[in-house]
Amino acid sequence: MTSLVIAVDGPAGTGKSTVSKGLARALNARYLDTGAMYRIVTLAVLRAGVDLTNTEAVAATAANAELAVGYDPDEDRSYLDGEDVSTEIRGDAVTKAVSAVSAVPAVRTRLVDLQRKLASGQDSVVVEGRDIGTVVLPDAHLKIFLTASAEERARRRNDQNKTSGLDDDYEAVLADVKRRDHLDSTRAVSPLRPADDAVVVDTSAMTQPEVIEHLRNLVRERAGAQR
Ligand code: C5P
Repeated sequence: MTSLVIAVDGPAGTGKSTVSKGLARALNARYLDTGAMYRIVTLAVLRAGVDLTNTEAVAATAANAELAVGYDPDEDRSYLDGEDVSTEIRGDAVTKAVSAVSAVPAVRTRLVDLQRKLASGQDSVVVEGRDIGTVVLPDAHLKIFLTASAEERARRRNDQNKTSGLDDDYEAVLADVKRRDHLDSTRAVSPLRPADDAVVVDTSAMTQPEVIEHLRNLVRERAGAQR
């Protein structure tokens, strides 16, 4: 198969990471997690003790942070200044602060530039994020936008919370999902929305293996159409 660039965008709670990794594995492609890159920069900002509302200081810290991510869907490691921070970037502190940091235009400019470099190359690549089809890789061969109802995403996250020992509070989780949807889709820089030529896939009533199979079929159609 010709090498392909596949963009997978969408909000949290759609199974985007698992599905993107599964697709990369099935296609023997590289996997690039752009959310991890925003999380690494956010960790650098938190460690520097920078006030999140001071956009200039956030931008300066982000500009100096040396970040690296792996391409392997089975071992997605993240590094800040050479240190493996894969676990720490998934923690609560980073998750709470990442929206503010990723809304700073200078942070986005730097990371988008880096993402384009990392996505280029001979091999196929699955790039996961929020603005891949619209901003980072507008020429991607296939653009997928995963969605699911707010209720279904809240249910999935509440289940995850329970599994990891956190409170069972569906109503609070649902309110948070709706709040973040609103923030993400109305922010000035790179709001979350499907590209005009994206294929929108509603995962509300699908299992993850079903979603992966569906995306593989879309890739087959697209790769076939290219020849
Ligand atoms: O995908 P993940 O939840 O790890 O992304 C963390 C955060 O990084 C998102 O909530 C969003 O604020 C930001 N992000 C972004 N653009 C991307 C990927 C992630 O703004 N391409």
